[in-house]
Amino acid sequence: MSTIWKGLLASIAVLAAASAASAQADYPTQPITIVVPFSAGGPTDTVTRLIAQTMTSELGQQVLVQNVGGAGGTLGAGQVAQAKPDGYTLLLHHIGMSTAPTLYRQLAFDPLKAFAPIGQVTSVPMTIVARKDLEPSDAAGLITYLKANGADTTYAHAGIGSASHLCGMLLQEALGVQMITVPYQGAAPAMTDIVGGQVDVLCDQTTNTTNQIKAGEVKAYAVTTPERVASLPELPTTKEVGLDKMQIGVWHGLYAPAGTDPAIIAKLEGALQKALANDTVKARFAELGTAPVSAAEATPDSLKAQLTSQIELWRPIIQAAGTYAD
Ligand code: ASP
Repeated sequence: MSTIWKGLLASIAVLAAASAASAQADYPTQPITIVVPFSAGGPTDTVTRLIAQTMTSELGQQVLVQNVGGAGGTLGAGQVAQAKPDGYTLLLHHIGMSTAPTLYRQLAFDPLKAFAPIGQVTSVPMTIVARKDLEPSDAAGLITYLKANGADTTYAHAGIGSASHLCGMLLQEALGVQMITVPYQGAAPAMTDIVGGQVDVLCDQTTNTTNQIKAGEVKAYAVTTPERVASLPELPTTKEVGLDKMQIGVWHGLYAPAGTDPAIIAKLEGALQKALANDTVKARFAELGTAPVSAAEATPDSLKAQLTSQIELWRPIIQAAGTYAD
C-alpha cells in the first residue's frame, strides 16, 4: 500500500474515532426508547413510566416507553438484543430475564451476553388474588378450595417466562394441583379479566394489584415476601399460611444492547440513580408496595451479579417443575 493511501486510511480512522467520541460526549441528542416487554398499564410498564419521567429531565431528552408484549417478555427482550447499541434503545425487564434461559429451550438471545447491564431498579412483592366472587375469603380457604377444585380453576398469567407464570408454577407445585392456565401479553389484561370475572386466579406484583385490592375489585389472599407489605398490612405472607416455598420478589433491571459504549452506560446509570432517588418516584413506589433499590444496586456490576445468581437460583426449580416453552 502506498504511503499516501496509508496516510489517508489513518486520517479516516482518526476522524471516525473523533466523531464516535463526540457522539458519546453529546449523548443523548435524540429521544431514548425503553422497551417494556409486556403490555401497557401492567406492573413493569408502571415502574418504567415512573422512572422514565425523571430520566427525561436528567438526560435532557424524552425517554419514551414502548410496549412489546408477547412470549412472556422474550419477544421485547429479543428485539432490544438486536437493536443498534447506540444508547437510544433500552430494555426494562424483570425476573423473567433470569428464568427465560431455562424455560425456553430455544431462546434467541443469551441474557448474559446480549445486553450491557445499566442497573437494578426495584424488587416488587407479589400477591395472590382472585375474582371477587371466588368462594374462599382467606388464604386457608383458598388452599383448601384449590386442592379440591384446582383442575377446574383458571389461572391468568403474562406468558411463559413472566413473573405471574412463575408464581403460578410455584403455587401449583406447593399445592400439588394443575390449574387451567390462560396466557396474556401482560399482567394488565390479565387483571382486567380477573376484575371482570372471566378468569379465577392471578399472582402478580403489588404494582398491578394494590389499587384493585384497595377498591375491593378483587379478593386478595397473601403476599409472597418474607415480611408483610406496609401498604397492604392485612395480607398474610405465604410463609404464614404454610406456603413456605412460595417466596418471590420480582426484581427489575435496566439494560442496553451489548456493545453500548461504557461512557453512554455511565450516563444512563447516573440518570437511573437520580430517578430512583426522586421523592415522587419513592412515594409512588411506596404506595404500590415497593421501594427503589439503593444507589449501590443501581449499577451495572450489581445488575450483572443479580442476573447471574438468579439464573442459577431458578434453573433447578424450573427443571424440577418440568415446565418448558419451545
Ligand atoms: N408483571 C407481569 C408478569 O410478569 C408482566 C407485566 O409487567 O405486565 O407477570
